Amino acid sequence: MELRVCDACGRWIEANETLFIMSVTLQAEAGPVDLDASAPGDVRDEFEKLVQAMERMTAEQIDEATDEVHENYRFALCAECRRDVHHRMKSRSNITGSY
Ligand SMILES: [Zn+2]
Repeated sequence: MELRVCDACGRWIEANETLFIMSVTLQAEAGPVDLDASAPGDVRDEFEKLVQAMERMTAEQIDEATDEVHENYRFALCAECRRDVHHRMKSRSNITGSY
């Protein structure tokens, strides 16, 4: 059973109240990868450098780097918080609610 707690305000959402689910995908903008710009040798060098850089990263740093590319979240919201988030998304301003 779903834990009926609003992820925004922390309020318990009663069984007779509507619980709203907000799914968020946060991902890096996909840019073009132009391998033709480099000679094959340069690509190998770049790849080798990338592998070496990754070998120096901790598991935590790798997780963080992976999250920067693509991550998904699922939040429960009460009716009031849904309305608040709705207005911020609709107006495309202060979408994180940080000011
Ligand atoms: Zn709430």
